[in-house]
Parts: sequence; C-alpha cells; structure tokens
Amino acid sequence: MLALVKTGPGPGLDLREVPSPTVGINDVLIGVHKTGICGTDLHIESWDPWAARTIHPPLVVGHEFVGEVTEVGSNVADFAPGDLVSGEGHVVCGRCRHCLAGRRHLCANTIGLGVGRDGAFAEYVVLPMTNVWHHWPGVDEEVAAIFDPFGNAVHTALAFPVLGEDVLVSGAGPIGLMATAVARHAGARNVVVSEPNAYRRELATQMGATLAIDPLERTLQSAFEELDMVEGFDVVMEMSGNPAALRSALGAMAHGGGIAILGIPTEEISLDVNQIVFNQLTLRGIYGREMYETWYKMTVMLQSGLDITPAITHRFGFRDHGAAFAAARQGDSGKVIMDWTT
Ligand code: NAD
Ligand code: ZN
Repeated sequence: MLALVKTGPGPGLDLREVPSPTVGINDVLIGVHKTGICGTDLHIESWDPWAARTIHPPLVVGHEFVGEVTEVGSNVADFAPGDLVSGEGHVVCGRCRHCLAGRRHLCANTIGLGVGRDGAFAEYVVLPMTNVWHHWPGVDEEVAAIFDPFGNAVHTALAFPVLGEDVLVSGAGPIGLMATAVARHAGARNVVVSEPNAYRRELATQMGATLAIDPLERTLQSAFEELDMVEGFDVVMEMSGNPAALRSALGAMAHGGGIAILGIPTEEISLDVNQIVFNQLTLRGIYGREMYETWYKMTVMLQSGLDITPAITHRFGFRDHGAAFAAARQGDSGKVIMDWTT
C-alpha cells in the first residue's frame, strides 16, 4: 500500500510503498478514505525537538481519519466489512487501574496512532476493535475524518458547564474553532474568541463567536463592557499553548471560574497563583478524548444540529501531501483534509 512515511531522523515525509498492516485477532483493518492534518503531524514532518525525542522511524504518520472496514480479526463481532468508521488515536493498555475503572483517557501507558505505532496517512490502517467508532449513515465524511480533534474540542468545551455562561476561547486554530461552535451549541451566553490571526478570527465568527478579538490590539477586559459582562469569564478554553494567552485569561476570570487547558506550551509558564487562590479558580488539563463519552457527545451534537464544517478550509489528494502540509503550516487555514481515494 502507499503511505506517508517518516523514513529516518530529519525533516520531510516520503510517499512510498509499504506492506499493508497485519490484522491480529482483535483488530480491525480499515481502508482509509479521508484524513485530517494535525499539529502533531507538522511537528513530525519538520522533525522538531519533540519529534526527535519521541518518534522512532520508520513510521507511518497521521491519526485523524475516516474509512471503511475491509477485514476483521477472528475475535471481532461488532464490525464488518463496509462499515464506515473512525479511530480513537490513543491506544490504551486496558489493564491499568484507570483502564479497568473505565477511565481510559487517564491510562498512563497510552500509545499514539501515527506517533508510537503506524498511523493513518496510508491506504490502510489497523486498530484494536476497542479503538474503532461506528459512524451513522449519511455522516459528512470530512467531518467524520476529524472526529479526533473535534473530540479534543468537545472534551475541553464540556469540561466545565457552559450553559448561560460567558466563555473565552483562547486561540482559534482548528480545535478552538470547533470548541467555539460546541460552546454555542451547549448554550453559552457569550463566546469571546481571542486570536491574533485575522483569517481565523473571521472563521471564528462563522463558527458562532459573539466577538472575535485580536489579543495584540486590545485587552480581554475591553470585551466585558461591550458584551455587558459583569465580572469576567466563567469558563476559559485555553487552546493556544501561548504563555501570554494563559496569563491574560487568568486575569480576566470571574470568581469561581474554570480554565480547561488543552493547548500545549513549548516552554514553562509562570503564573500568578494569587489569582488562582483568591479568585478560587479551577485549572484542568485536558488530554485526548474520553473513551467513549466524548465520541458519543460528538455524534449526538452533530445529529442535533451542531455544524463544524466552516472549520474545514482546504482539501487535497494524498499525492499532493506537500501542498497539504504547507497549507496546514501557514496560519491562514482551518482544518486541512487529504483524500486517500483519488
Ligand atoms: P493551532 O496551533 O492551529 O492553534 C493555536 C492558535 O493559537 C493559532 O491560531 C495561534 O494564532 C493562536 N495564538 C497564538 N498566540 C495567541 C495568543 N497570545 N492569544 C490567543 N491565541 C493565540 O493548534 P490546534 O490544532 O487548534 O490545537 C490547539 C492547541 O491544542 C495546540 O497547542 C495543540 O498543540 C494542542 N493540542 C492538544 C491536545 C491534547 O490532547 N491536549 C490535542 C491536540 C492539540
Ligand atoms: Zn491503561
């Protein structure tokens, strides 16, 4: 099969022939239809310090996908050839305290698809059946292809109750954009999006942001008066990984508020802990998706009218992977999709 492979240490990815994955007795083999490009894939492609520490080539990259089941292992009863599915990219151990208690997102032995095992930027991908999610007939395949990052958005957006609340989404990359739509769908009063990139601020407005502001031009506090907010934000979704963004958010919270932190900083961030103590804030780290409550919520929110399609801005055939990665890397884009069927 053809796959996008990190062949050795250093920048770049090669489209090349590799053997199709072998199917174990508990595995599902999936013919890939469409994939999404994630920041993680960009890190692996450019071979930054994180990638050099983490990745052991040769490796087929990619973890955001939708496809069709083509073969199942002998223990697999719930999936059959032809089923349209996506995959949870975190393969957990199933045996640790948290896995056994059903808190699989807390597994400390997680292996990442396209990071610690061969991934989905390929004509075929294999996963344990416990990592495969059925879609409903008629689902938009582009949306289905990005259930993994959509799940990051949903996991973060539902970390604190947002009904009636004033919400700040800090960073309008693809995940912040989707979180904006989820927060509106889940009943937030105001969703303020803070994002320096004008193209992404415009997308945020399309996703339902009440107000999209440039943090380099104005303060978060300047939004309060405009929106008739009394005290500050009740809920923040930190989706930029930027130290200044987290510090600004901390200074713009209502007492008792919650900050869900998904963004991954590349450096240590110092915070004024007095703000956390005296304002009685809760900071919560978010990693991955809850298996499979997040996946259930994604499905039913889409079925009840949530629209995340404006977050998808670019489409390429897989042979144009260079152009696809370039589009994802430059800031004027939302989610970039690669099609593996053309
Ligand atoms: P992205 O890099 O496309 O988006 C980040 C956005 O933050 C960019 O649009 C950038 O312009 C914006 N930004 C930069 N400085 C800012 C500032 N001072 N204030 C507000 N916004 C600012 O990333 P993404 O794919 O949307 O992912 C969002 C974040 O979540 C990234 O940090 C990513 O590494 C992280 N992530 C975490 C998990 C997890 O499981 N915890 C999973 C996937 C991604
Ligand atoms: Zn485990």
